[in-house]
Amino acid sequence: MAPDLHRIPQERERMPYQEDYFFAETVSAARLTPSLVRVVLRVRDGERLIESGHPDEWVRLAFGPDAQTPVTLPVLMDDGRWGRPDGSPPCPNRPYTVRRWTPETCEMVIDIVAHEGGVGASWALQAKPGDVIGICNPEGRFWLPAGSRWLLMLADISGLPAVGRVLEELPEGFPAAVHVEIPSDDDRQEIGGLIGTVADATITWHTCHGLRPERPGYTELPRIAREITTLPEGPGYIYIAGEARAVSDCRKHFRDALSFDKHRIDAVGYWIEGQARV
Ligand SMILES: Cc1cc2nc3c(=O)[nH]c(=O)nc-3n(C[C@H](O)[C@H](O)[C@H](O)COP(=O)(O)OP(=O)(O)OC[C@H]3O[C@@H](n4cnc5c(N)ncnc54)[C@H](O)[C@@H]3O)c2cc1C
Repeated sequence: MAPDLHRIPQERERMPYQEDYFFAETVSAARLTPSLVRVVLRVRDGERLIESGHPDEWVRLAFGPDAQTPVTLPVLMDDGRWGRPDGSPPCPNRPYTVRRWTPETCEMVIDIVAHEGGVGASWALQAKPGDVIGICNPEGRFWLPAGSRWLLMLADISGLPAVGRVLEELPEGFPAAVHVEIPSDDDRQEIGGLIGTVADATITWHTCHGLRPERPGYTELPRIAREITTLPEGPGYIYIAGEARAVSDCRKHFRDALSFDKHRIDAVGYWIEGQARV
């Protein structure tokens, strides 16, 4: 029997994005695993928040311009546009996956990679209950093209929150093969442990992420992709999340070497090595 795909949007169901902004108060912030900080936020007026319907949905977290200046949000102006009529400076902001959203309590879970430098990572490492940041309405990309019979996901640790959310929302029995690149064995999030799923999913962990003296760069995702030399029978969907150049190389492998339909691949550059994600 074909799996029930009612929870995952097909392309035609993509909803137009509705711009909106919220303040969110930190409820808790703690290490989930050595490389991830789990932050729980309570979104003020979160009843207004519009979910995207995509399981990889993300928000932009906005931070105060400096330690002394609180975060401010754009406001809806009389002409229907969002702006800053008071002249307040825009706040630095970064995209993060909504690992979990609970509309009843307006609580949002975000898992943040604790890497060196960066506004977002530095904020997460020092976050404490009561800290206030800004967020916007979520948007998303993941969609199972009509007729998909399987899913292949490749991600480095920045895409692990999306992996967790996707696996939790896939329909019962849906075949999914997932490859995740992590810095250490302790960064694993086992299915049935930190990740719940009713899909027919397997995760392969690759403990090679991060700077190593023996090679340049943070990631071996393209090598992991090249080691996949056959794909399951029938139409499927490939979702890749990680460092921008690496995911582009992975996409090329599936498109060019394995002749897989490029319209059934989403390769999302989550971060850019050596460059801030502004
Ligand atoms: C759709 C989407 C969803 C995302 N979801 C998540 C998520 O759930 N969790 C998460 O942690 N990230 C996620 N990211 C990635 C995150 O937005 C970037 O890593 C961002 O650069 C972090 O901002 P920063 O202020 O910490 O660092 P930046 O100021 O952007 O960069 C500062 C320096 O840190 C480096 N850097 C940035 N990210 C990393 C990294 N992951 N590892 C090593 N070095 C890095 C940069 O190359 C740069 O040199 C997502 C990105 C997108 C586009």
